[in-house]
Amino acid sequence: MNVRIVTKDQDVSARLEPALTVLGYTVSFCENPTAALDQCRHDEYPFLILDHDLVGENLLTLCRSLRTPPRKPQSYLLILLTSHHADLLQDALKAGANDYLLKPLQPKELERRFQVIHQYVTRTFQQDCEQMNVILEEKTRQLTQHLEARTAELQTSNQSLLREIEERRQVEDALKKLEKAIETMQLGVTITGPDRKIVYTNPADAQMHGYTVEELLGKDVTIFAPPFLKRPLILEQNEEVKGWVRETFNMRKDGSIFPVQLMTEFVKDSQGKTTATVTTCEDITERKEVEKSLMEAHNLLLTLIDNIPDYIYVKDAKGRFLIHNTAYTQFLEAGHHEELFGKTDFDVFPKDIAARYHADEQRIIETGHPVINKEELVVNKKGHKQWLLTTKIPLQNEQGHVTRIVCISHDITERKRSEEHLRKSHDELEVRVKQRTAELSRTNRMLQQEIVERRRVQEEFQKARDVAESASRAKSEFLANMSHELRTPLNAILGYADIFKEAENLSERQREGMHIIKTSGEHLLTLINDILDLAKIEAGRMELHESEFVLPQFLLCIGQMISIRAEQKEIDFVLDDHLAPDLCIVADEKRLRQVLLNLLGNAVKFTEQGMVSLRVFEVTEGDESHDRTRIRFKIEDTGIGIAENKLDEIFVPFQQVGKQSYAIEGTGLGLSISQKIVALMGGELQVESQLGEGSIFRFDLTVPLSEPDAPQQFIDPRKVIGYEGEERHQVLIVDDKQEHRKMLTNMLLNIGFEVLEAKNGQECLEQFFAFRPKIILLDMYMPVMDGFEAARHIRRSEDIHDTTIIAVSANGFEEIKRKSFEAGCNEFLIKPLQLHDLLDVLSIYLQLEWVYEEEKHPEQEETEAKPLNALPPGEIAELLTLARRGNIKKILAKLHDLESLGKQYRPLITSLQTLAKHFQIDDILELLEQAEEHNE
Ligand code: ADP
Repeated sequence: MNVRIVTKDQDVSARLEPALTVLGYTVSFCENPTAALDQCRHDEYPFLILDHDLVGENLLTLCRSLRTPPRKPQSYLLILLTSHHADLLQDALKAGANDYLLKPLQPKELERRFQVIHQYVTRTFQQDCEQMNVILEEKTRQLTQHLEARTAELQTSNQSLLREIEERRQVEDALKKLEKAIETMQLGVTITGPDRKIVYTNPADAQMHGYTVEELLGKDVTIFAPPFLKRPLILEQNEEVKGWVRETFNMRKDGSIFPVQLMTEFVKDSQGKTTATVTTCEDITERKEVEKSLMEAHNLLLTLIDNIPDYIYVKDAKGRFLIHNTAYTQFLEAGHHEELFGKTDFDVFPKDIAARYHADEQRIIETGHPVINKEELVVNKKGHKQWLLTTKIPLQNEQGHVTRIVCISHDITERKRSEEHLRKSHDELEVRVKQRTAELSRTNRMLQQEIVERRRVQEEFQKARDVAESASRAKSEFLANMSHELRTPLNAILGYADIFKEAENLSERQREGMHIIKTSGEHLLTLINDILDLAKIEAGRMELHESEFVLPQFLLCIGQMISIRAEQKEIDFVLDDHLAPDLCIVADEKRLRQVLLNLLGNAVKFTEQGMVSLRVFEVTEGDESHDRTRIRFKIEDTGIGIAENKLDEIFVPFQQVGKQSYAIEGTGLGLSISQKIVALMGGELQVESQLGEGSIFRFDLTVPLSEPDAPQQFIDPRKVIGYEGEERHQVLIVDDKQEHRKMLTNMLLNIGFEVLEAKNGQECLEQFFAFRPKIILLDMYMPVMDGFEAARHIRRSEDIHDTTIIAVSANGFEEIKRKSFEAGCNEFLIKPLQLHDLLDVLSIYLQLEWVYEEEKHPEQEETEAKPLNALPPGEIAELLTLARRGNIKKILAKLHDLESLGKQYRPLITSLQTLAKHFQIDDILELLEQAEEHNE
């Protein structure tokens, strides 16, 4: 506990402090009474000691002020007096002092008194404290209650505040979204104030009217109104009206007018006065256009419906007419269109028919099913009857209820009449059919007997036809074989004619003779071909093989052939072609040659004096395209002519007219073959003739044109005497006919080939496997083993197909060609073999460069007078001696030595080597003797 001593007296302080400290007091001193009073007001001192010395007259004031509430608890006031101030004691006690001590202070007295005072102070202080505690607790409780109440209050208000804040935030969000939506929407939005000035407009609205937003703000809203439209403002003043929707026109900044739909909402105050307007504006230009085109389509539909002769009408669900066309009004005889609108069937039909119609339509409405093509007889109010074919289609609204029925009726009265008529005819017919059936079954029985008879005849006919067909097959085969048999000897004749024609030691007569053999052989070949051609034509197997060739060149060749014959008969031959010299056409050259030779041949044959001419020219007809041309061939003679009544006969096979003396020269086939070939080529062979005056044969051909500079088959007239290069090539000749082999051997030996021979397929295989020649000339028809089988064997056994097999046959049927290619042949040549054809094939497959007679090198000039195949005389004599002794080995050795002599001896040396290798001594002797003769 604290004690405060207010004194200046050092002695007092010294006495009091220890006595109080002993009792456990904390002692503080104060010398200034005012400060002491002040301190006592603020701090609580349960025990105060006031020294009269210091306080003097103020003692009482101090006591009183210390006793003035609200000071609690009461301090224990002890005053120190001297005996001189006893009068003051009474006042001091009244003023609030509790007790007094007289100075000078006695230690014993002090101790005693302080113990008593201490008990009192302690008790009072405790009581005060308890009392204060009670008060404090009460205060605390009240405060706690108050605090709780306030907290609860605050929490409630806090929650409502939070709610309010959240609501505000949401409202603000919604407002922002709304603003954004309005800003970005397509619809124009404008808000005006009470003075009709624009306070807000969105970008869509500004853009729609051609302004910027800034340009519009603050402007009068009538800025949008076209001058011809004064918008009524009355509505804004009308309290009842809240909004207004209308279609009108607005004006853009550039003055252009466009249709709009406006929706205005009036914002009004409590007195109903408009404070703002919110207007949405939609540009309805497109909609208006759609409406317009819909209207047009509607009108078009109405026009269409109105012009259709069928009856068309539309009714509502109560059976009232909504739409109907003129045809229907005319049918009803109801007068003007408008009169029918809104009426029902009961107004326009007799009652029973109207009731039937109504029932039908009710069914359609209930079921939703259409009635398609119903035939019904209808009578209008005036008793006019018609058969109608009616279709009624229900139209449903979005809820699936039938709201309309579309009806289309077609007048079928005429058809009904025809049907009736038909029915009657049908009945009549049935009666007749029954009668006829009875008759027919009688006839039928007779017919059946006849059929049996016919079948028998047919079977006989079939047998006869089979016999005829097999005879025809046999004939074709016979012809093919015949042509083969005839061509083989011809082959030899023509081949040798080719060889000997070139021989250098022939006299002019012999040479001419050889030429005649050659041309006659060729003529004979043509005749054989004629027979074969006729067979082919009759069997329908004639094929055209088109190629490109220069027509004038081709005609020149023909002219040369014919002029020889004409010369023989001392008549003139004129070739008159009016063609470009390089006119190149695509056609079957062989067949065209055949026709022209036949016609010209006839002309020469049947003319004894005068002339024969071949005129060829292009016939221009406007419609020819530039890649084709029409060419006329005209063969004219001044011969015996043909009687008019025989002109048709001459084209019949084997028919010859006129003098019998000419008949032996021909077969009567030429013209019929030519006529058919010309027809195959797309032309028509025509003849004009007068007996004794002469004849004209002519035909036109339309042929494709080819490039004039296209490579032409060029037959080099120079004689081939060898080929470039050191390598000698072997050729295997396979043919059962010895003369054919010989002819080919001679041909090939002369130009430096080594030759092997075989007379059938079997031998061919033996030679092939022994020597592996690069080229085989293979006859396809041979005994023992034919060419097809031999070729197949070779192809099967070869690892690499580097052997060239050239099929050779007198039979040129396509089928044979195909078979030989299938067997493995690379080429196909027809007998008799033409030397240049063979050389062409060899040069392609062996890649050879031919050496021609005039291509000799200068150093060979001196040997030129000598025959090509001659060797120096001494060498020939030596070889002859060896040959006569049959010493093949030495011959081969000698020939090997001679190889170094020079290129010019190469063909003879190679030929001799080939013969020696095959031990053909006779042939070697023959060849050497010939060479010896040349040398002489
Ligand atoms: P071929 O001349 O072989 O008898 P063709 O069929 O070529 O057979 O001719 C049939 C016949 O037509 C001849 O026999 C001849 O009577 C007659 N003929 C054909 N060409 C002439 C012609 N230029 N002048 C007179 N008669 C011809």
